[in-house]
Order: sequence, then structure tokens, then C-alpha cells
Amino acid sequence: MPQSPWLPIPEKSDFSIYNLPYGVFSTPTRRPRVGVAIGEQIIDMAALTARGKFHDLKIPLQVFEQPSLNAFMSLGKPVWKAVRQRLIQWICEENSPLHQLQEESMLPQSDAKMLLPVQVGDYTDFYASEEHATNVGSMFRGKENALMPNWKHMPIAYHGRASSIIVSGTPIHRPKGQLMPTGADRPVFGASQKLDFELEMAAVIGVSSELGTSVTTEEAENYIFGMALFNDWSARDIQKWEYVPLGPFLGKNFASSLSPWIVPMEALKPFVTEGPKQQPEPLPYLQKANPRNYNIHLEVYLQPAMQEEVQICRTNFKHMYWSIQQQLAHHTINGCNLRVGDLLASGTISGSQPDSYGSMLELSWNGERRLQLGEASRTFLEDGDTIRMYAYAEQDHKRIGFGEVKTKILPPL
Ligand code: CA
Repeated sequence: MPQSPWLPIPEKSDFSIYNLPYGVFSTPTRRPRVGVAIGEQIIDMAALTARGKFHDLKIPLQVFEQPSLNAFMSLGKPVWKAVRQRLIQWICEENSPLHQLQEESMLPQSDAKMLLPVQVGDYTDFYASEEHATNVGSMFRGKENALMPNWKHMPIAYHGRASSIIVSGTPIHRPKGQLMPTGADRPVFGASQKLDFELEMAAVIGVSSELGTSVTTEEAENYIFGMALFNDWSARDIQKWEYVPLGPFLGKNFASSLSPWIVPMEALKPFVTEGPKQQPEPLPYLQKANPRNYNIHLEVYLQPAMQEEVQICRTNFKHMYWSIQQQLAHHTINGCNLRVGDLLASGTISGSQPDSYGSMLELSWNGERRLQLGEASRTFLEDGDTIRMYAYAEQDHKRIGFGEVKTKILPPL
């Protein structure tokens, strides 16, 4: 692995040489295009391509001058790998084309506006954390019946909505809908009183599969381009009244926030770890040969209007019961095809301790306990609150960060 980049990278930077995540950005003088984060800079991939620097890799001229990563992802894994190797080499080589062209091909991240990095086709939301499913199940069905009988046999999921996926920094309005007040015999219409976040990670599909075929747990990783942070907003009161018998709908589809940088799977390799033991043993198509969880630290901060932010959750992605590879195998076992740009979200990531719960629903135990935040306190989220999620993986002096996903809640429209 390379050791000495010629450009300055702060020691605790999210964007070390080991990371090199992809995003889409624009500036007043640069139309939306693909960039790669390194230290506090962005490498303008379109500018390098315009200078013929990826010509030998047969990368078409317009692939990076796009408002999404989809065209680049469509080129396939060998190309992702070749581009990554070249960037690592250029960041470390004194007289590399990147160094020579740095005036036009690099810019400070602070000068760029980050855009939604992926044109999302289909969005699927899983429910893969045993702790989260147990907490929610205990609240609504009692401790004895917390997990449904199917939960330990398959990664449970539903099809979400792609049109309302937004990039970090885009505020959301509190949603309105039908609510069923406790003890009432008919619903009322109004703004959600139980607006919540869900701490999740999202896998971005970079390779399509054919309709009628399925992807095994072993092959699954080849279909994933990278991972990002994901806040799957939820209106618990709307959800509660609508979800039987067909599942989540308007309580979930008003917005989901994605972080702007997609961390390549290649960068995550050093952080692969064993997941929880699965008991009972899953059916053969869901069995895994290798450890495939990821050791990624996750943090959530809540900032009430005019106040400092307070950390409200700290957990780890490695606790997930069902791995991404198992989710993908399950998703395609009936012949359902994947397309470039599809997004698979993990479901809320909760740990076993009360300060590791990944939603207000669990942190406040459905409103039974108030969370103290300096002067303020919360059960669910209020207008003016900002939720910031942050994630990183670190070991053996290698650190890679996911950046953040940060969203402010505005009053209902
Ligand atoms: Ca979710």
C-alpha cells in the first residue's frame, strides 16, 4: 500500500489515501461532474478525462461529466479497480499527471456544492438489526413476541421510494398525513407528531443482474459499487395507522437522506469482520462462507435550533444480524433483477445498549422517556432540529470516513 502522498492530508481526515470515495459536485464554473475526495480536496475526474488522462482505460469522454455516478458505475468492476489504482499511484508520485495538472484538476471541498451522487432506480429498505427489530417488536407486541417467526429465517425488507432520496444538506419539511389519536374512533389529518430518524447504511448497486437469475452470497460483493450513510426518515404516527396489512407507505416515503460520498467496497476490505452467529442456521441460499460484516463506527448528533449539537447515539455496523451479501442474495432469489443505481439500505442500526439505539423511537422508548440535550429535551424530533450522522472505520493506522449526512427539519408546508 502507498505511504507518502505529495499533497497534504490531515492526520484524522475522513478522506485518506485508503478511502478515495466518489461523489458528484458542481461549482459556479464547473457543471455537475464526478469527483473523488482526498484530504480536504476534490479530484475533478471530468477535468482529467478532458486532458486524455484515462484514454488508455477506454473511458468515454463524457462518463465523468455527468450529474450522477451511474455512467461510471456501468463500466464495471475492472474499470473501477483500474481507476482507483491509477489515482493511488498519482497521489503518491511526485511528477504524476495529477500533480502537474493540479491547478485545473483539484479544488478545495469547501468550494464545491455536493449533489445527490446516484440516480437511484429502485430503493429497498431492509430490517437487518436484531436489536432494532427486537426493540420495536417489544414496544408494539410485548417482549415475548418481539421477533416475528420469519425474522431469523430471512432478511425482512420492503420496497421504498427512490424519488424522495435527497443529498445531505437538503432540509425536509415535517410531513402531514392521517393520524389515529389514542382512544379516538376515527383518524384526523395533521402534521406528524412523531417524526424520527433512522441510522442506516446504504449499499449502491454498480452491476446489473438479469431478470430471472439470482445472485449468490459469494457473488454479491461483485455487484456492489460502494457504501454510504443513510437517514431513512420516518413518521411513526402516520406509519402506525397505515401499515397493516401492506406495510410502510406515507410514513416513510416523504424523504430519505444520503451522504454525498460513496466509499468503494475495495476501501472497506480491511474492515471486514465476523457478524453475529446465526441461530437457527439459515437456509442454504442464505448461508455465508466468509465473515462479511464491516467494522464501521457510527454516531448520531441532534442539534436543537440555536443550541450546540449533542451526541445521542454511538454504535457499530458490525452488529447487523443479516449481512449485505445475504440481503442481496435474498433480494434476487426469486429472479428479481438488480440495476445499476439501485440502493439497498440496511435498516436501522441499533446496538444492545440504550445509547446505541439508532432511532428516537428506541432512544425515547416510544415517547416514554425524554432525552436530555443540554437545556432542551426530546422524545421525537421538533421543527428546527438538525440530525447529523457520521461514520468512520479505523485500524492499523488506516482510517476511512464516510463524511456525514446532515439534515434540518423545517415546519410543515
Ligand atoms: Ca428504515
